[in-house]
Amino acid sequence: MAKAIPSRSENYSEWYNELIKKADLAENSAVRGCMVIKPYGYSIWEKMQRALDDMFKETGHSNAYFPLFIPKSYLSKEASHVEGFAKECAVVTHYRLKNAEDGSGVIVDPEAKLEEELIVRPTSETVIWSTYKNWIQSYRDLPLLINQWANVVRWEMRTRIFLRTAEFLWQEGHTAHATQAEAEAETRQMLDVYARFAEEWMSMPVVRGSKTPNERFAGAEDTLCIEAMMQDGKALQAGTSHFLGQNFAKAFDVQFLNKANQQEFVWGTSWGVSTRLMGALIMAHSDDDGLVLPPKLAPIQVVIVPIYRNEEQLAQLSERILPLVKDLRKAGISVKFDDSDTNKPGWKFAEYELRGVPVRLAMGMRDFENGTVEIARRDLKTKETVPFEGILERIQALLDDIQQSIYQKALAFRQANTFKVDTWDEFKEQIEKGGFILAHWDGTSETEEAIKEETKATIRCIPFDAAAEEGVCVFSGKPSTRRVVFARAY
Ligand code: AMP
Repeated sequence: MAKAIPSRSENYSEWYNELIKKADLAENSAVRGCMVIKPYGYSIWEKMQRALDDMFKETGHSNAYFPLFIPKSYLSKEASHVEGFAKECAVVTHYRLKNAEDGSGVIVDPEAKLEEELIVRPTSETVIWSTYKNWIQSYRDLPLLINQWANVVRWEMRTRIFLRTAEFLWQEGHTAHATQAEAEAETRQMLDVYARFAEEWMSMPVVRGSKTPNERFAGAEDTLCIEAMMQDGKALQAGTSHFLGQNFAKAFDVQFLNKANQQEFVWGTSWGVSTRLMGALIMAHSDDDGLVLPPKLAPIQVVIVPIYRNEEQLAQLSERILPLVKDLRKAGISVKFDDSDTNKPGWKFAEYELRGVPVRLAMGMRDFENGTVEIARRDLKTKETVPFEGILERIQALLDDIQQSIYQKALAFRQANTFKVDTWDEFKEQIEKGGFILAHWDGTSETEEAIKEETKATIRCIPFDAAAEEGVCVFSGKPSTRRVVFARAY
């Protein structure tokens, strides 16, 4: 059989692009950097949304919706915010088209110029804080814990499907608090929610830490992040949580009357994850035969393929299999019984492998007579013939095992590709081979930029769990108190 997709070792980037196409997840659109998310891809995103949304609700947040368009003047109110986003903004200047007089087609009607130009939201802090001004008067209105599911537009120059698109889907949490301590605790809590989602749902281990001032969100006092390692050894920032201090409260004059009857500015946070997580999921686990999905996010968790020669055989097999299908559904497991006769079993096996269905059952007439069934796991590509009796429990246990085992595999990969490096020569050599480098850094932006310039490696984060350790900066030789994570990143 012809190979469906290039292998990871041949061309990692092509493997990724082709896999997305062949597994029917998404495709590029007419507008550069924008994507069409197809039903199979969208059903994975929906599962991600549901799990995250439940976690946000459990931590006390409510969903709301704010407009797509932001008056240009709002964006300029927070100086570093506008500076950070200015280069990526799509701007609406007119509201009408008309037929060209020379018959050459439709043109923008110059008469229909907007009085104030509108920005298509690249993120919603400004529009939300301008609204919070009306919602917050006293300490009784706090904390305000809001999340929004939306699309945003950032006119990115170098795009890659899912990982960095011009329009993407995301959630953005925006919270307001009475005290600095409370806002800082919220920032950390939501980062931990993201880390838990990445590890427990996506089976993707992450490093938690804070960004350096250089890599901070425009307008934040502190940016926390989770960083994951992809199978080519590159890093991917998978989620961010920002402590905004009182920056947006001051920019939009959001004050509250505290318990001592004094006016104070409100403290803020914002946090987001996007459809980038779809890219992360693909890059973290999939192999040369297709997707490998963690069972908790797989749209189809179990596929059952009957192997038959005629209608009579199919009827016999169905009679045994259909009650199982019912039981699996009752147990909350999504299952597909593929009895279509348009494709041969071998074709079906390859197709479900490509689509990353975690567990496959196959039953032929010999199994039927022996009271057995063949059960195969997608992650390890192993299969065995087992008694049909007790198959439900076996499937449940196998799904749990796959969820754990792909996490352990990704963790082992990250550990095997994380290196402590103490000299500049070693650093340059290692960064070419990929992986995370733990090295000392003198804490200055100049050194960080010089390292990036020379090696394309950035500081992914200052990990929370980095032990205090006296050392010298790998680049400048100046003193340092702990190691940070360097890597080339998507
Ligand atoms: P930010 O608001 O910059 O902190 O980004 C919030 C989340 O969106 C982070 O998890 C980013 O990884 C993700 N993100 C940022 N830019 C893009 C993009 N162009 N495409 C997809 N995801 C993005």
